[in-house]
Amino acid sequence: MAEAEFGATLWGRAWLRTVERTDGTPRAQLPKARSLSRNHKVDLVLPGADAADGSPAVTAAVRDGSSTHTVTLAPCGWSAAEQDAAGNVLAGLRPDPSGDLPDDLIGRFGDAGVPVVPAAPDETATCTCRARSRPCAHILATLYTLVSTIDERPVTALELRCPDGVGNGGGAGAGSDADWIALEDIDPATFFDPPVR
Ligand SMILES: [Zn+2]
Repeated sequence: MAEAEFGATLWGRAWLRTVERTDGTPRAQLPKARSLSRNHKVDLVLPGADAADGSPAVTAAVRDGSSTHTVTLAPCGWSAAEQDAAGNVLAGLRPDPSGDLPDDLIGRFGDAGVPVVPAAPDETATCTCRARSRPCAHILATLYTLVSTIDERPVTALELRCPDGVGNGGGAGAGSDADWIALEDIDPATFFDPPVR
């Protein structure tokens, strides 16, 4: 297959780089992590996708043999300053009902100094297993599944960074741009629609 199994989109690839790091020796757990993800052993719950939960973090139940482990990523939200900068980048963007995003948007985030992916989500995640080495295969499998989820619906990458909607809390001047995206301006059925599972 010509297309990458994980990281087929720029948005997924940005997250994939936190798993498959190029700045060290390859992680021994990666083949197992890929296998767990590929074989649908990871049940991912995105923030807001489960209203009863209300957690700001991505969580996952990972089935490994007869055991199930719970992985929790650190909350992925932008800082207030990053969110303001992101709002400027996103001004004028028309949400695509399919959840796709323009490829050049990632470069515009880079130019604005807004990180698309949180720093070291692999290191800040927790897992209930007893493996001594961290990140364990379950954490890495969760990140692989998140990469696939973002490949299928890139706007998920933005929703993780800005769970309350970009443009909210931006201060008095935030509304000056007619194209500013605020949560109340977005049809939640098309833009912040949780993935159908
Ligand atoms: Zn684990």
